Amino acid sequence: MTNKTLNTIIIGAGIGGLVTALCLAKKGLKSEIYEKTPELSELGAGVQLSPNATKVLNYLGLLSELRKYTFEPQAFKFLNYKNKNIIAEQNLGEEIEKKYGAPNYDVHRADLQKVLLEEVKKQGIKIHTNSVVHDVSQDEISAYIHTNQGKVEGDLIIGADGIHSLVRKKLWGDDRARFTGNVAWRMLVPVDRLPPNLVQPNTTVWLGPNKHFVQYHVKNGSMLNCVCLVEQEGWTNENWAERGNIEELKELYKGWHDSLQTLLEYSNPESLYRWALHDRLPLKQWSKKRITLLGDSAHPMLPFLAQGAAMAIEDGAILASSLASFSDCKLGLIDYESKRKIRTTMVQKMAARNAKIFHLSGLAAVMRNLVMNFAGKKIMNDLYNYDATSI
Ligand SMILES: Cc1cc2nc3c(=O)[nH]c(=O)nc-3n(C[C@H](O)[C@H](O)[C@H](O)COP(=O)(O)OP(=O)(O)OC[C@H]3O[C@@H](n4cnc5c(N)ncnc54)[C@H](O)[C@@H]3O)c2cc1C
Repeated sequence: MTNKTLNTIIIGAGIGGLVTALCLAKKGLKSEIYEKTPELSELGAGVQLSPNATKVLNYLGLLSELRKYTFEPQAFKFLNYKNKNIIAEQNLGEEIEKKYGAPNYDVHRADLQKVLLEEVKKQGIKIHTNSVVHDVSQDEISAYIHTNQGKVEGDLIIGADGIHSLVRKKLWGDDRARFTGNVAWRMLVPVDRLPPNLVQPNTTVWLGPNKHFVQYHVKNGSMLNCVCLVEQEGWTNENWAERGNIEELKELYKGWHDSLQTLLEYSNPESLYRWALHDRLPLKQWSKKRITLLGDSAHPMLPFLAQGAAMAIEDGAILASSLASFSDCKLGLIDYESKRKIRTTMVQKMAARNAKIFHLSGLAAVMRNLVMNFAGKKIMNDLYNYDATSI
């Protein structure tokens, strides 16, 4: 058997699963996706797509379609929560595109998913919705998924099934996701209801003690995506569809700069949701013979570096290239893991470290502010220089 006849089963039609199917198709490799939800839902918030992610989307020929929905921020600004002083900043826009060879876009998750889905359909890749995978198994010649619709045989399985991955549990046991002590609140605010000049065309991160606040435009600039990340104990619900109370949120940000208070005043309480943030420690190994993990199932991380989706996208490109390079898919999976593990573990750790650094107060915050510009640029370079399409 040559690798061109590989029959790949992907579990999960999230960003990771869809991009992987498209990268496999680009290499002439076949795959089918099994997704537990009856319909692909449009839940979720904004996603920042840094150049390391858009390089892959460009390789897949999707950037012009995506551009219909994205917003290109002009700068990254970290602001002091009280006096609005700039702690650190970095130009984005054309400068970043020139430097890293691909743009930095902000997009709503539903729009990204729509563009990926349309391309998946165009490529004739089959998505089996309403297929809940409840077990995986393998023998010397095949791998199998066991679903509510029956047993399916393939040559290999990619578990792109998110932070609560069944595949991870079946391969490596039940290491429960840990509550990180952080709760994320998110809302979408229509820009036309905001006072003029209240928000700049930037990705803005307000830093304060025990919490921070991220804002950027999505939906072609018509909506402002706000994510409020707050250290809060005693509430650990992970459901993305749990509504938040705007009065409670305002109380949490009492004493922060007037611009932020005004933004909360004009916000849209119906779009306010909250969920508790969980993560897991990095795994020692991802793959067993014909079964591997990808995206959040392999390396779930806090959103404090805005790289979770980007890492899943990079994974997809590298996995497809590894599978195309070996006639034995087991060797392809070893190659994939060896190319991805170090980078994703590093990013997982940096995101966890930011959870502490972003929320410092007092003297520690003053020290952080002194080095943040320099340190931020170095991290950006390491993240954005990477090109998963040429490895
Ligand atoms: C507040 C917040 C902000 C974020 N911001 C950013 C950002 O700006 N930039 C960025 O790059 N990342 C960001 N991320 C991270 C990013 O959203 C995730 O890392 C990314 O969506 C993971 O994609 P995935 O495909 O691995 O998993 P998921 O999106 O979780 O997809 C998993 C899929 O598998 C399906 N599934 C699960 N179990 C089964 C089963 N047993 N059988 C069949 N199907 C199954 C699920 O229904 C789902 O469709 C953010 C995350 C959060 C929480």
